[in-house]
This record gives sequence, structure tokens and C-alpha cells, in this order.
Amino acid sequence: MTTRWTPLNTALAIALCGATLAFAPAHGAGQTAAAPVADKAATVLPGDDFFTFANSAWLNKTDIPADRGSWSAMGSLAEETNARIVKLIEDLAQDKNTKGEARMVANYYSAFMNQKAIESNGTGPLKPLLANIDAIKDKAGLTRALGESVRANVDPLNNTNFYTENLFGLWVAQGLSDSTRNQAYLLQGGLGMPDRAYFLDASARMAELRTAYQAHIAAMLKLAGFSEPEARAARVFALEMAIAKTHAPRDESNDIQKSNNTWTLADFAAKAPGVDWKAFFAAAKLQGQASFGVWHPGAMTGAAALLADADVRAWKDYLAFHLINHHAATLPKAFADQHFAFNGKTLSGAPQQSLRWKLALAATNGALDDAVGKIYVARYFPAANKVQLQKMVANIVAAFDRRIDKLDWMAPATRAQAKEKLRTLYVGVGYPDHWKTYTGLTVSPVDAFGNAVRAEEFHYANEIALLHSKPNRTDWTMPPQLVNAVNLPLQNALNFPAAILQPPFFDPNASDAANYGAIGAIIGHEISHSFDDQGAQFDAEGHLRDWWTKSDLAHFQAASSKLVAQYSAYQPFADLAVNGQLTLSENLADLAGLAASYDAFKATATAGEGADRDFFLGFAQAWRSKFREPSLRRGVLTDGHAPAMYRAATVRNLDAWYTAFDVQPGQALYLAPEQRVRVW
Ligand SMILES: [Zn+2]
Repeated sequence: MTTRWTPLNTALAIALCGATLAFAPAHGAGQTAAAPVADKAATVLPGDDFFTFANSAWLNKTDIPADRGSWSAMGSLAEETNARIVKLIEDLAQDKNTKGEARMVANYYSAFMNQKAIESNGTGPLKPLLANIDAIKDKAGLTRALGESVRANVDPLNNTNFYTENLFGLWVAQGLSDSTRNQAYLLQGGLGMPDRAYFLDASARMAELRTAYQAHIAAMLKLAGFSEPEARAARVFALEMAIAKTHAPRDESNDIQKSNNTWTLADFAAKAPGVDWKAFFAAAKLQGQASFGVWHPGAMTGAAALLADADVRAWKDYLAFHLINHHAATLPKAFADQHFAFNGKTLSGAPQQSLRWKLALAATNGALDDAVGKIYVARYFPAANKVQLQKMVANIVAAFDRRIDKLDWMAPATRAQAKEKLRTLYVGVGYPDHWKTYTGLTVSPVDAFGNAVRAEEFHYANEIALLHSKPNRTDWTMPPQLVNAVNLPLQNALNFPAAILQPPFFDPNASDAANYGAIGAIIGHEISHSFDDQGAQFDAEGHLRDWWTKSDLAHFQAASSKLVAQYSAYQPFADLAVNGQLTLSENLADLAGLAASYDAFKATATAGEGADRDFFLGFAQAWRSKFREPSLRRGVLTDGHAPAMYRAATVRNLDAWYTAFDVQPGQALYLAPEQRVRVW
């Protein structure tokens, strides 16, 4: 569904800190809540409004839950899946015979749920960590503490998570131009609000948020027993304001060409003077790395300049605040409530805090992703499903390959490389070929805070260890229990976690037509991301390399512009239309995915009477959703995906849809054959 997603190991951060990545709703949007669906559905024609035609029964019976801005097939499937997983974990916790990883999972969850123990521990667990910060005497001590704070909690290319509360975030992945080894990438970080825009934007609303943020810093420090919390908060805020000014804006973080910077230790000294980088990297356990990928060079230089004449006292307050803020969920309720009051209510508009079990599960999923996944898959993902889906994937890849053969605009050399990229694509279905292990991690049934600290350190050590091993294309970046799918450009790989391979996306008892229409189109969507404006910058081995000719690119852009115009004409509000350019990659992927899946369906499956209708209905039903007005508006403004009703309208570019539903000129979705967009 997306190449841009939130890794589960930040799920807690999202749940608690709507700050980071939770702005865009899970998937585009849908019907506005107020639309008179029931009356409309009785008479709507497929050629006028295919989304409502396909989903009228669901739209009529479904209300958006009170704690949500939107609701969709994905959202409700995730909720059902989480409830099942929690039941499994609770059973494991009760069972005296539970051992090994399953016991770790049970303990992690139970400790997080044990609010009585958390209350009685008070700020005790924080104290040794705060004492370390308090012991900082000079710049050398500060450099060491900042180095020690680095965690592997960002991922700019796969899950596109750019947010870390620490000054820098580490990502370990294959080298952009050397697929034989893993590289350490450093990303900007260190802000307690989601993006530099929150600090620098001049609007009254943003100014209001800044005032609220400074008050939040003071409130957290006060809860932890600090003297003069307001004065300290002012210093922390001023420091973050200075950091924000060095940050690259969000759209620049997406630009792989700007992010492709390799720095040796000598480069750090020359380009980012002011820091003893050798000491910093030693503290971060990154000593011995010959070079780093510096994703945000400006922020690196800027942070070094800030540290050059550091006010050590302000930085100590800064480190203390972020330590407390980061661990709020496993501190007494007053901390978690204050954290929600700012990050949930003020920053995200959520009226209600998530139930504790949802936070506990998100935290457990983050700390023990594969261990939970293994338990989930064993119970809920039959081996037969995997076989059936792998067959579908092979058929859709073959259909895509035939489409590449038929592209008259693509130069032969480009075509050969596109086919090679498709031939070597790794597609993971359900769960990884090899599971992560957690040997050496201690998980206490009563120490939620300690568990969180140890799990992050454990994860960090594992990522550092990867720097001494070769990249593995079959490594997964999404756990099996996540309702999502992802394209991994450096690995030339796709992951389809088990949790999305359920109704309404996939149902072993449904017709081939319905399955190809729903999950088949999603599989095709992810495949086609390998060849879109982003994916086409990476070759079959995951090297960042320009392999399209200029004329290939020109043709691709010309065809794309027709799709931009088609989507820009959609107008969910009188004052706001869909942004065809912002949503282009995803709309292209929807179109190519639907077309390839349709081909695969026709070439291989048993298609009975009415099968084409079932195929297109299956597609539109996977996008069923409802949105409250502000949520739909925010989605149109910020989400790279078009609202769901327009994604469902992708069908109007396929000739077969017109035949299947007898769509006629004059109907709202009708396009004359020459207006239908055919890119792939
Ligand atoms: Zn996508």
C-alpha cells in the first residue's frame, strides 16, 4: 500500500507522540461522514460513483469510532488483529509452561500493563540515568553523552521514518552505491515537535504550539523533581529552536540525490568542526567505521557549530528532558498523562488517550517484533495461504514482465534492465525466511522502564553488528503482524506481512476474481513502485544509478502528466481539490498494479460468468473508508495517497471495466478511450 510507512518499533512513539508520523491517516481517505450514503447507494450507477456502488452496504452500516478521525478496511483489520494478538499474549502470560521468547513477550506486555508496579517504582528507574547526565562537567562529557544517546530509530528509504528525539539517528542499510556492504547512515534529529516547521513557521497556530511545547517541557521537568523548571524549559526550547534552524525541510529529506553524501572522519573534522567526532563515535559504539552516509549534511554542520560554543548547562537540561519525555509511557501515570496532553491532544487533536492495552501491545511489538510475529503467524497464517499467495505473486510478476515487453516507448537497453530488476525481485510473503532472535535480552515481568531501555540497547547493538556483515536482501523491515506492505528499494524487495493477507484483502475462500482485484492489485502496486520516479533511481542490485534514458523519462513524464490532471480534477471540498502531483507516484502504482493484476487474473485464473465484475468490486471494496471532515482535509493536504474514493476510481482507465459494468458516455467516471491513461 505504501512505500512510506511507520515502522512498528516507533509505534509507541506514534501512539504517545502523535508528533512524529501520525499526521497522514493510514490510507488516504474516503466518504465524508456526513454524506447521505444510504439514499445515494440505492440508485447510484457504477459509471457515476464506483466507490459508493461497490461499498454501499459497508458505508450504510459503519460508523467511525469515537477515538478516530477516519475508518477503513485497513484500520478495522488492524484493530481486529491487535485484539487477537493480545488474547494470545494474555494466554501465554497465564500459562506456567510459557518459556523462551514467548515468555519474553508475555513479560514485556505484563510489565507494561502493571501500572501498580509502575506507580510504586515512581521516578526510581529514571534516577541513575539522570545522575549520569548530572555528572557531565564539560564539553567532553557532553560529547560522550550525546554519542551514547544515539539509537537506530530512523529509516529514510523503506518505512520513511525521519523522526528521532535524539540529536542524531542511526540507520544501517546497504551502501547506496556498494551493495556488498552495509553502511551507517546518520540522520538529523533532536526536536521534541515533529518537524522544523513547528519551530520556524510564522503562523499564529504554530506560535501557539510553541508556547504549549515550552510549557510541556517545564511540566515534565517539574514532575521529575527539577528545580526552576520554567527557566530550564526556556533554555531547552531555545536550544531546539537553534537546532531546528539547521534542519533540512521534510521534502528535502525525500530527495535521495541530496542525501547521498559519504563522509570520512576527516570530512567530519573539516565540514562539521566543533566536535571531537572520534570521541562521539566511540561513545556511539561506531568507532572503526571508515565512512558514514550523512543524510542531512546541513544539520550535521549546524549541530557541530552549536556544540562548538556549547552552554553545557542548557544541554544537560535538554538531555534530561528528552530522557523523561521519551520514557513517559513507562513512568507513573502523571508523566504519561502530561505526554498525551501535549503530543496527543495539542499536537494531534486526539480527544481520547488510547487504551492501555493498545499502548502495551505497540510497545511489545516494537521491542520484540519478530517474537510476537512468530506467535501470531503460528496461530493465524496457514501455510496454504502462503503457497496460494506466492503463486499469485509469480503470476502478477509475469504479467508485469509481459507489459514491459510491450512498452513501445522504452529503449531496448532500459527494457533489459527493467526486466532484470523484475527477475531478481525478492518478494517476502507472510513472514521472513529467517527470524530475528532475542538471546541476551532480559525482560522482567515487573520492570517496564528497564525493559524499554534494554530493548532499545539490544536493538541498537544488533544494528551495529550488521555493519560487520553483508547486506541480506531477504531481511524484512515490517513485522508479520502489521497490516501494511512495503517496497524496499535498496534490497529490490517487497514485504507483504501476514496481517494484511486477510479479508477483505485476501480470503482463501473467496473467488480468484475478488482476490486478484483486492490483494492482487496491492501486490501489483508494490511491484510498480520499483519502476516509479523514486524506484527507477535504483537498479536490480539496489545501487543508486541512473539507468533510464532521457527519452524514456520524457515519455514516462508525459504519460504521468495525464494522470496528474485526472486526479487534480477530483474535488472533495468546494475549496480544495486533490493534488495530482503530490499523489502521482501512488496513483501510478494503483493504475499499474490494477492493470497487471487484471492481466494475471485473466491469464491464469478460472474466470466464470461475471468474474470481471467481481474483480473490480474486490478492488473498490479494499478501499472502503469513511473520514471526518478535518481528517479528509488533512489527508488531501499532506498524504501522498489520494483519498480512497478516488483510488477506487482507478478502474476508469481500464477498458475491461467499461464492458463489465456497461459504463456509457455521459456518466461521471466515463473517459473516452484516448483519455484513459496507460503508462505501463
Ligand atoms: Zn504505494
